[in-house]
Amino acid sequence: MSEHEAAGTGEAAGAGGPAGPGETAGAGGPAGPGEAAGAGGDGGGDVGRGSRMPATEGLLHARAAVVHDLAAAGLDSPAAVDVVEDAVAGRRWWVERWNQGLDVVAGQIAQDVQDRLLDDTGVRWPLCHAPECDGRAFHSLAIVPELGPDPHWVCEEAAVDVAPLGRLPRQPPGPPELTGG
Ligand SMILES: [Zn+2]
Repeated sequence: MSEHEAAGTGEAAGAGGPAGPGETAGAGGPAGPGEAAGAGGDGGGDVGRGSRMPATEGLLHARAAVVHDLAAAGLDSPAAVDVVEDAVAGRRWWVERWNQGLDVVAGQIAQDVQDRLLDDTGVRWPLCHAPECDGRAFHSLAIVPELGPDPHWVCEEAAVDVAPLGRLPRQPPGPPELTGG
Protein backbone atom coordinates (compact mmCIF):
# COMPACT_ATOMS: atom_id res chain seq x y z
CA MET A 1 0.00 0.00 0.00
CA SER A 2 1.72 3.18 -1.06
CA GLU A 3 0.37 6.51 -0.14
CA HIS A 4 1.26 8.21 -3.32
CA GLU A 5 -1.10 6.07 -5.28
CA ALA A 6 -4.11 7.37 -3.49
CA ALA A 7 -3.11 10.95 -2.97
CA GLY A 8 -1.02 11.45 -6.03
CA THR A 9 -3.59 10.91 -8.68
CA GLY A 10 -5.86 13.63 -9.84
CA GLU A 11 -8.80 11.32 -9.89
CA ALA A 12 -8.77 10.66 -6.17
CA ALA A 13 -8.49 14.35 -5.44
CA GLY A 14 -11.49 15.11 -7.55
CA ALA A 15 -13.69 12.71 -5.64
CA GLY A 16 -15.56 15.56 -4.03
CA GLY A 17 -17.63 16.35 -7.03
CA PRO A 18 -19.94 13.85 -8.62
CA ALA A 19 -20.52 16.25 -11.46
CA GLY A 20 -17.70 17.65 -13.50
CA PRO A 21 -15.95 20.73 -12.24
CA GLY A 22 -17.36 22.84 -15.02
CA GLU A 23 -20.96 22.12 -14.18
CA THR A 24 -20.78 22.85 -10.50
CA ALA A 25 -18.82 26.03 -11.08
CA GLY A 26 -21.49 27.42 -13.34
CA ALA A 27 -23.69 28.46 -10.48
CA GLY A 28 -25.87 30.46 -12.81
CA GLY A 29 -27.98 27.39 -13.42
CA PRO A 30 -31.66 27.36 -14.19
CA ALA A 31 -32.60 27.30 -10.52
CA GLY A 32 -31.21 30.77 -10.10
CA PRO A 33 -30.86 32.45 -6.74
CA GLY A 34 -33.74 34.70 -7.66
CA GLU A 35 -35.90 34.15 -4.63
CA ALA A 36 -33.12 34.29 -2.12
CA ALA A 37 -31.68 37.36 -3.75
CA GLY A 38 -35.02 39.08 -3.53
CA ALA A 39 -34.80 39.02 0.22
CA GLY A 40 -31.10 39.66 0.37
CA GLY A 41 -31.56 42.64 -1.70
CA ASP A 42 -29.46 45.15 -3.40
CA GLY A 43 -26.39 43.12 -4.15
CA GLY A 44 -23.22 44.98 -4.78
CA GLY A 45 -22.73 47.19 -7.73
CA ASP A 46 -20.27 44.74 -9.17
CA VAL A 47 -23.01 42.63 -10.61
CA GLY A 48 -24.42 44.86 -13.26
CA ARG A 49 -21.29 46.26 -14.81
CA GLY A 50 -18.90 43.54 -15.68
CA SER A 51 -21.01 40.47 -15.92
CA ARG A 52 -23.82 40.57 -18.35
CA MET A 53 -27.01 39.67 -16.62
CA PRO A 54 -29.58 38.48 -19.12
CA ALA A 55 -32.20 41.11 -19.74
CA THR A 56 -34.95 38.74 -18.73
CA GLU A 57 -33.40 38.07 -15.35
CA GLY A 58 -32.88 41.74 -14.66
CA LEU A 59 -36.45 42.49 -15.58
CA LEU A 60 -37.70 39.73 -13.29
CA HIS A 61 -35.80 41.27 -10.40
CA ALA A 62 -37.24 44.66 -11.21
CA ARG A 63 -40.75 43.25 -11.47
CA ALA A 64 -40.40 41.46 -8.14
CA ALA A 65 -39.19 44.63 -6.42
CA VAL A 66 -42.05 46.73 -7.73
CA VAL A 67 -44.68 44.10 -6.95
CA HIS A 68 -43.27 43.77 -3.43
CA ASP A 69 -43.68 47.48 -2.86
CA LEU A 70 -47.19 47.47 -4.29
CA ALA A 71 -48.03 44.67 -1.87
CA ALA A 72 -46.51 46.63 0.98
CA ALA A 73 -49.01 49.34 0.25
CA GLY A 74 -51.86 46.83 -0.12
CA LEU A 75 -52.11 47.58 -3.83
CA ASP A 76 -51.07 44.29 -5.38
CA SER A 77 -54.38 43.75 -7.12
CA PRO A 78 -54.43 41.86 -10.40
CA ALA A 79 -55.02 45.14 -12.21
CA ALA A 80 -52.01 46.74 -10.58
CA VAL A 81 -49.85 43.73 -11.36
CA ASP A 82 -51.01 44.06 -14.96
CA VAL A 83 -49.69 47.60 -14.92
CA VAL A 84 -46.34 46.27 -13.75
CA GLU A 85 -46.30 43.66 -16.50
CA ASP A 86 -46.99 46.37 -19.05
CA ALA A 87 -44.21 48.53 -17.72
CA VAL A 88 -41.78 45.61 -17.76
CA ALA A 89 -42.72 44.77 -21.34
CA GLY A 90 -42.33 48.39 -22.32
CA ARG A 91 -38.78 48.51 -20.97
CA ARG A 92 -37.61 45.24 -22.42
CA TRP A 93 -36.48 46.68 -25.75
CA TRP A 94 -34.57 49.30 -23.87
CA VAL A 95 -32.43 46.96 -21.76
CA GLU A 96 -31.93 44.64 -24.70
CA ARG A 97 -30.31 47.48 -26.60
CA TRP A 98 -28.45 48.97 -23.69
CA ASN A 99 -27.32 46.30 -21.27
CA GLN A 100 -26.21 48.73 -18.61
CA GLY A 101 -29.80 49.83 -18.49
CA LEU A 102 -30.30 46.85 -16.21
CA ASP A 103 -28.79 48.91 -13.43
CA VAL A 104 -31.48 51.49 -13.69
CA VAL A 105 -34.46 49.70 -15.18
CA ALA A 106 -36.06 48.88 -11.83
CA GLY A 107 -36.32 52.55 -10.98
CA GLN A 108 -37.70 53.26 -14.42
CA ILE A 109 -40.37 50.60 -14.09
CA ALA A 110 -41.35 51.85 -10.65
CA GLN A 111 -41.83 55.33 -12.06
CA ASP A 112 -43.80 54.00 -15.01
CA VAL A 113 -46.12 52.20 -12.61
CA GLN A 114 -46.49 55.30 -10.45
CA ASP A 115 -47.52 57.33 -13.47
CA ARG A 116 -49.94 54.75 -14.75
CA LEU A 117 -51.62 54.24 -11.40
CA LEU A 118 -52.06 57.96 -10.94
CA ASP A 119 -53.29 58.58 -14.49
CA ASP A 120 -55.59 55.59 -14.75
CA THR A 121 -56.96 55.25 -11.26
CA GLY A 122 -55.91 58.37 -9.38
CA VAL A 123 -54.01 56.23 -6.91
CA ARG A 124 -50.89 57.72 -5.40
CA TRP A 125 -48.29 55.06 -4.70
CA PRO A 126 -46.47 54.67 -2.46
CA LEU A 127 -47.81 57.09 0.11
CA CYS A 128 -45.40 58.67 2.52
CA HIS A 129 -45.71 57.48 6.10
CA ALA A 130 -42.50 59.04 7.33
CA PRO A 131 -42.79 60.25 10.90
CA GLU A 132 -41.27 63.52 9.77
CA CYS A 133 -44.36 64.10 7.68
CA ASP A 134 -46.87 63.48 10.44
CA GLY A 135 -49.66 65.98 10.05
CA ARG A 136 -48.82 67.00 6.51
CA ALA A 137 -51.17 66.45 3.62
CA PHE A 138 -50.57 62.98 2.28
CA HIS A 139 -48.16 62.70 -0.57
CA SER A 140 -46.28 60.01 -2.41
CA LEU A 141 -42.66 58.99 -2.36
CA ALA A 142 -40.34 59.44 -5.31
CA ILE A 143 -37.65 57.27 -6.84
CA VAL A 144 -34.18 58.73 -6.36
CA PRO A 145 -32.14 58.74 -8.50
CA GLU A 146 -34.64 58.92 -11.34
CA LEU A 147 -32.15 57.33 -13.70
CA GLY A 148 -29.43 55.55 -11.82
CA PRO A 149 -28.49 52.39 -9.99
CA ASP A 150 -29.67 51.51 -6.50
CA PRO A 151 -32.96 53.40 -6.54
CA HIS A 152 -34.55 54.41 -3.25
CA TRP A 153 -37.95 55.68 -2.23
CA VAL A 154 -37.49 59.18 -0.94
CA CYS A 155 -39.90 61.70 0.54
CA GLU A 156 -39.08 64.91 -1.22
CA GLU A 157 -41.13 66.97 1.23
CA ALA A 158 -39.00 66.06 4.20
CA ALA A 159 -35.92 64.86 2.32
CA VAL A 160 -36.15 61.48 4.01
CA ASP A 161 -34.79 58.29 2.49
CA VAL A 162 -37.54 55.82 3.32
CA ALA A 163 -36.36 52.53 1.81
CA PRO A 164 -34.63 50.97 -1.16
CA LEU A 165 -36.90 49.99 -4.01
CA GLY A 166 -38.23 46.52 -3.27
CA ARG A 167 -37.86 46.95 0.51
CA LEU A 168 -40.72 49.23 1.30
CA PRO A 169 -42.02 48.47 4.79
CA ARG A 170 -45.58 47.34 5.08
CA GLN A 171 -47.86 50.34 5.12
CA PRO A 172 -51.24 50.85 6.70
CA PRO A 173 -54.03 50.66 4.14
CA GLY A 174 -55.35 53.87 2.71
CA PRO A 175 -54.05 57.33 3.27
CA PRO A 176 -52.53 58.11 6.63
CA GLU A 177 -54.83 59.73 9.07
CA LEU A 178 -55.01 63.42 8.59
CA THR A 179 -54.90 65.44 11.75
CA GLY A 180 -57.22 68.36 12.04
CA GLY A 181 -59.28 67.43 9.02
ZN1 LIG B 1 -43.23 62.66 3.37
